[in-house]
Amino acid sequence: MSEIAPIRWPAYTGATADRPGMWPALLRGASGKCPNCGRAKLFKGWLRQIDTCPVCAAPLGAIRADDAPPYIVVFVVGHIVITSQVLLDGRFDLSLWTEAAIFLPLTVLLALGLLRPAKGATIGLMLQLGMMPSGDG
Ligand SMILES: [Zn+2]
Repeated sequence: MSEIAPIRWPAYTGATADRPGMWPALLRGASGKCPNCGRAKLFKGWLRQIDTCPVCAAPLGAIRADDAPPYIVVFVVGHIVITSQVLLDGRFDLSLWTEAAIFLPLTVLLALGLLRPAKGATIGLMLQLGMMPSGDG
């Protein structure tokens, strides 16, 4: 794979021409990479994003995902777990303890596993859409 020089983050102007496309930004963010260049890590902790990308200078710390990632995770995990539980319950005669032993850990693991990709994708989406403070009020 050939290396392409990273595009430096432009000063925020509101223009969308210099930003990455929607899918690259979403996928880079979901994989924990800078949504703009895809070359640097997006997170410096479990869920805290870096302030500025060291490669392309994108102002990632200014993007506030707020409650969107947990909402996305609750929506997705709820559909997976509840659908699985209903399908399993209709097919097998399991005790409540057995179902609890299956679905409680599944819920926790899915939620923890999806929260970081959901936050990264949200940051990528917000960066692509220009949803960040412009500094002019
Ligand atoms: Zn970058």
